[in-house]
Amino acid sequence: MKQITSNVWVETETRGCNFGFVTTTDGIVMIDSPHKPTTAMWLKTEIENRGLLRYIINTEPHGDHWTGNAFFDAPVIAHEGVRTRMLNTDMAEHAARVGTFGPEEPALLEDYTANFPVITFRDTMTMHVGDHTFEMIHMPGHTLYQAAVIVKEEGVVFTSDNIFHGVHSWLHEADPDLWLVALESLRGLNEDIFVPGHGDMCGKGYLDEQGAFISEWKDYVQDAVDRGMTREESVSTLTAMIDRYPMDVEQAALAPMVMGINAGNLYDYLTGPWPPASMGTVATRLPSDYR
Ligand SMILES: [Zn+2]
Repeated sequence: MKQITSNVWVETETRGCNFGFVTTTDGIVMIDSPHKPTTAMWLKTEIENRGLLRYIINTEPHGDHWTGNAFFDAPVIAHEGVRTRMLNTDMAEHAARVGTFGPEEPALLEDYTANFPVITFRDTMTMHVGDHTFEMIHMPGHTLYQAAVIVKEEGVVFTSDNIFHGVHSWLHEADPDLWLVALESLRGLNEDIFVPGHGDMCGKGYLDEQGAFISEWKDYVQDAVDRGMTREESVSTLTAMIDRYPMDVEQAALAPMVMGINAGNLYDYLTGPWPPASMGTVATRLPSDYR
């Protein structure tokens, strides 16, 4: 793993989201968890070599951020929408899909039992562990339940998937306008060492590019709506963005599918009603900043 400050380690090159951990004077706090069980077992050793794991923080509801929680014995903290989404997940089906990620994964997924968030927040939450302060801030965008995690003493922000640095952005359940607000919230922070949800480390210098790409996607689908295209036509024909960025690690084959689900979600967003019921109901309690 890459050590980025005195007490923060991150991993950005395995399949799934970026994840990391912080060493404090009272144990270790892990931020997000690996998608692949084999990666989780490797991370477990990395952490055990450095101390006792105290907490896990999940930054969003997608499985690449929480699947690996199950391989660690520590309580999980997340936005309440993440907990709800996890509780509504068919875990047998989820484990079967993750089992296709490699030959050694199925054995580790036998009797898979998810490690659900037991401490939840809606707007913000501050946690003190040893000499470190962790601030969780709800920043809906990529999903309605995103949170940025700021490690104050280290000047580091785990931005979650509101930043895809140099790799394709998934907008399959995004609110593009809230996402742009979230990027401005990130710009307003004092800290400028960003661990994005996917891609290499970055800082505020990337925010304009991320925002421009979201706006471009939205305009692209709006144009299709204006030309009278149906949802089905949009999903199957709006593929022009495919070469703009590479997909993240081990996801190249998913590119056409991602173009389709991005277009489909934005079509729904622009034509309403949105969000669909499958995204949950916490969206009705967004902080006033995001309305
Ligand atoms: Zn995500």
